[in-house]
Amino acid sequence: FSKITCQRAWMQIDLDALTYNVTQIKNLLSTGTALMAVVKADGYGHGGVTVAKTVLKAGANALAVATLMEGIELREAGVNSPILVLGVTNTPEEVVANIHWNLEATICCLEQAFMISRTLSQYKKQLSVHLKLDTGMSRLGTPWYQGTRLIKLVHKLPYLKLSGIYSHLSASDDPDKESIELQHQRFETVVSDLKNQNKFCLHFANSAATINYPQLHYNLVRVGLALYGIYPSPHLRSQVSLKPILQVKAKITQIKTISQGTKVSYGNQFTSKHSMIIAIVSIGYADGVPRNLSNRLQVLIHGQRAHQIGAITMDQLILDVSHVKDIKVGDIVTLIGKDGEQEITANDWALELGTISWEILCGFKRRLPRVNI
Ligand code: PLP
Repeated sequence: FSKITCQRAWMQIDLDALTYNVTQIKNLLSTGTALMAVVKADGYGHGGVTVAKTVLKAGANALAVATLMEGIELREAGVNSPILVLGVTNTPEEVVANIHWNLEATICCLEQAFMISRTLSQYKKQLSVHLKLDTGMSRLGTPWYQGTRLIKLVHKLPYLKLSGIYSHLSASDDPDKESIELQHQRFETVVSDLKNQNKFCLHFANSAATINYPQLHYNLVRVGLALYGIYPSPHLRSQVSLKPILQVKAKITQIKTISQGTKVSYGNQFTSKHSMIIAIVSIGYADGVPRNLSNRLQVLIHGQRAHQIGAITMDQLILDVSHVKDIKVGDIVTLIGKDGEQEITANDWALELGTISWEILCGFKRRLPRVNI
């Protein structure tokens, strides 16, 4: 009995490719710049703990997560690098958890800084915090024009150790640089005097900016997507070599012939125009294959493309395999990944659905086991 051979569908994560991507990104950085790997949302769906341990071993210097619980999950798994929680810390209970698990917090306003400082004074503990500036994204952060004042006030608060100042770009992969330049200028108005004081981590660049704008590196970059081997934008391909680390596979569970005029799957959305051989595959939207790809999804079998037909269901989908030779029950279908000369990427799904690769990766459900190779 092997858990792997009993799987009906799985995600294959190539840890060597992940290590390769870390090295490629590190090669873009000057010696004074550290790499913070963004492993939020369960490592962009790849399995947060394994990704975290692998990137640290490969040379990443710190990790970023979105929530306190994600940070705690990593600590419980034995990860002991610096971890920054990018989301807010709004309650004393959360501050206590930050202290207990040694997680760095993000602060976004003075009230929050006061609350954290009061809680820390009560416990007589220091906490490392990073101040987040809103330079144009209009999401989390202090408006940049209040940044300098807030930094001065935070310095006066006991037990609060201001370790970093950061901001996030809203259109880093846009070839039109206007908004990037504006955000950069705003960030500079706050940090220009602090750059030479090595006590602060200044960080601004995500994957696209790390690849494309060395002037935005400061002394730390926060990289997510590129580590998972996906280019934030096709025009960045020439700048760095990345390898996709994810493959999604499933097995064929039944093969049969249907006659002309047969309806296929829920809602009878597909009717066969001629007799065809169909294969049932044991993966569905409950695993993270978007139902909106119904009748549009392509997969690879024996190095050839096959079309999915009818509605994608919760646990299964149906393929037209009339043209695929020697197909049998148990054969492995590649939904994302390589088979022979053919390749399908998460980005292909994103383009088909009018969304972004990030959403596709995060959409894979826990039911789909992550198998590390
Ligand atoms: N920094 C912050 C605050 C983020 O929210 C994200 C991702 O959403 C990143 C960095 C990493 O971005 P990317 O995946 O484009 O590298």
